[in-house]
Amino acid sequence: TEYKAAENRYHTMTYNRSGKSGVLLPAISLGLWHNFGFVDSIQNARAILRCAFDLGITHFDLANNYGPPYGSAEENFGTIFNKDFKNYRDELFIATKAGYDMWPGPYGNLGSRKYLISSLDQSLKRMNLDYVDVFYHHRPDPDTPMEETMGALTDIVRQGKALYVAISNYNPAETQKAAALLKASNTPFILHQARYSMFDRWVEDGLLDTLEKNGVGCITFSPLAQGMLTDKYLNGIPKDSRAAKDLTYLNTETVNNNIDKIHQLAEIANNRGQKLSQMAIAWILRQPQVASVLIGASSTNQLKENVKALDNLEFTSEELQLIDKIVS
Ligand code: NDP
Repeated sequence: TEYKAAENRYHTMTYNRSGKSGVLLPAISLGLWHNFGFVDSIQNARAILRCAFDLGITHFDLANNYGPPYGSAEENFGTIFNKDFKNYRDELFIATKAGYDMWPGPYGNLGSRKYLISSLDQSLKRMNLDYVDVFYHHRPDPDTPMEETMGALTDIVRQGKALYVAISNYNPAETQKAAALLKASNTPFILHQARYSMFDRWVEDGLLDTLEKNGVGCITFSPLAQGMLTDKYLNGIPKDSRAAKDLTYLNTETVNNNIDKIHQLAEIANNRGQKLSQMAIAWILRQPQVASVLIGASSTNQLKENVKALDNLEFTSEELQLIDKIVS
């Protein structure tokens, strides 16, 4: 059936400026790392994307190797984009990345100009797009001169294949160096994508300050610690959960090691009249440098639940102290 986006789609979402750029991002964005590959149901993927846009989520985050198999999340996205979103292209902010393992041999990984430019060309074909809104170097490469990597990002913008550039997983010193290089070439560098949740607070140790100083926004990934910071595991490990499938470092052992903290955090959320997932997202949005929280969802219900985080973003200092104590 033909998709017509909800007319009220811009009524409830909040949009935050990314650093000092002209770009506004939805406070909650959708990532396609899991649940969008050829191994997954494309009907479900399509329903999640439609639901997201209906809720005002204008920003979708992909990478060359999301799937599995590699490339398949982009290909599924391209198929769905052609059917449902072609008429909405200018209302969407679409990201992809290169930096991790993608194809065999010396040119399908890390940070060379050779890899970045050919990878983005492949991504555009798979997604049926002429350009992406933002292109990322996905992780720092200690063996490639940063001048080469940032030069490739600059040329990608000059060629019109991306409107803005971004980096991910760079530490504060690397970020500062990248920012200086991109500034020198007048390349629009708008975002840093970093893992951040109540269970992983490394960005508080210098990264957020570095971004603020350079006028660059932060978009945070795995805000729910891949599902641990939700009600999902409170009563055991469901068979169809990410932990049970053991797709990444999230496995049953990690959940079991954290389950006491999860119960304590869920109680605080409950006292706030929120789900744990909603409190976990609100807790990240308390940082002024964070333009958007990048969530994953395996169902439209999860997505709807998570977006309701925006109904209560205030924390008392007692709540914040209690959270610090539980997670420290
Ligand atoms: P989350 O921490 O939001 O985890 C998402 C998973 O948690 C879902 O797939 C689902 O898993 C579960 N979940 C979500 N909402 C609920 C809910 N309300 N109730 C119960 N369970 C829920 O984020 P991700 O780890 O998926 O990362 C988000 C995005 O960030 C990625 O898609 C990607 O775009 C980006 N990312 C970037 C990285 C980088 O290096 N730059 C690295 C990792 C991610 P389940 O299957 O168990 O239902």
